[in-house]
Amino acid sequence: TAAHPLSAVRAEFPFLAPSGYGPPLAYLDNAATTQKPRPVLDAVVDFYTTANSNIGRGFYELSRRATGRYEEAREVVRRFVNAAHADEIVFTRGTTDAVNLLADTFAERIVGPGDDIVVTGMEHNSNLLPWRRLCERRGARLRIVPSPAGGPVRPDDLAAVLGHRTRLVAVSHVSNVLGTVNPVRELAAVAHDRGVPVVVDGAQAVAHLPVDVREIGADFYCFSGHKVYAPMGSGVLYGRRELLADLPPYQVGGGTVKGVSHDAPVSYVPVPARLEAGTPDIGAAVGLATALTWLDGLGRDAVRAHDADLVRYAVEVLRGVDRVRVVGDPAADPAGIVSIAVDGLHPYDVGGHLDRHGIAVRSGVHCASAFLDDLGLLGTVRLSFAVYSTRDEVDRVAEALRTVRAGEWTTDYPDTRFR
Ligand code: PMP
Repeated sequence: TAAHPLSAVRAEFPFLAPSGYGPPLAYLDNAATTQKPRPVLDAVVDFYTTANSNIGRGFYELSRRATGRYEEAREVVRRFVNAAHADEIVFTRGTTDAVNLLADTFAERIVGPGDDIVVTGMEHNSNLLPWRRLCERRGARLRIVPSPAGGPVRPDDLAAVLGHRTRLVAVSHVSNVLGTVNPVRELAAVAHDRGVPVVVDGAQAVAHLPVDVREIGADFYCFSGHKVYAPMGSGVLYGRRELLADLPPYQVGGGTVKGVSHDAPVSYVPVPARLEAGTPDIGAAVGLATALTWLDGLGRDAVRAHDADLVRYAVEVLRGVDRVRVVGDPAADPAGIVSIAVDGLHPYDVGGHLDRHGIAVRSGVHCASAFLDDLGLLGTVRLSFAVYSTRDEVDRVAEALRTVRAGEWTTDYPDTRFR
């Protein structure tokens, strides 16, 4: 058989290089953050080595260079998500920052007393709490569309929840807990039928699925760079030009105004600069552009095939382990995530046990405790894959699970912070 198209990719990740001591790390927490390939690390170092200066100070060459790299990065992101215009791309610190931006600017203006915002039952706290807080502040109601047994949210179920006071719908593209892929295009169509704008949380989608914001019909689409092989501190808010154009600034400060005098009213610059107050993380944006170009270079079909192979393999192998239950149906539409529960064991026990076998997975409620409550689970143990993940790593998980016992959770887990 031909070599897998991604078989050489692992060598591009310095973090994954074998240490020579003990078994190599099986890093299977890629939904939390991915490791970074050499070209991304190099691009960040190159920025700081050859172009580091602040943007928008065009009176010297170096600043023009930094500005150029920052705006080129915006264009790369535009192409990656197939936005119509580069000024529809706002750089943020990540998904959480992007959703908060929308809650405090776009939604703040259109949501009033008696209105409602609709979210799905599977949202990560970052696409739940900003809407919930806004509803509390505005006297509005947050309504939840359930996901049947953790499966994709059905367009009819969304239609049933939408009312004449619904002002906004916010849905995740892919669940960070179960890897469920929502039919975002159909959900957006249902909302648009009622004239309701749609925010899509794409944090778990961009590294796995081709994302075309126009094909989806998303009014807003948010993601984090660090989950797609880019540096931490890089993130994206895509917004349709007509909707972004009127937004008030999120934060105010340098870079957002045309000029300020002590007595005249303030007038703000156009988006995206209006929404990017202060010095942005230029190095991270440069790294993000490099990561997206690099990922595209692997071929989206190859990435999807690799994900599908690993998810199906993991489901099959893990189902064969005594007491292990795969939660949901991750193989139906694979997106790089497989969550399991082990009968009679707390997910922390399982996570700690795997850790001692050199396997890093996430255990617990994955910042989505409301969803776990609906599923009737204390938590799950989540395997999440990246382009460098292997079947061998899945085999190691299965092998280690054969010896897990209760009471192994002895470390003081930071379980309050990551809820
Ligand atoms: N939404 C989803 C679905 C996520 O998985 C995450 C990250 N775990 C976030 C939002 C928040 O992303 P960040 O922490 O990068 O802002």
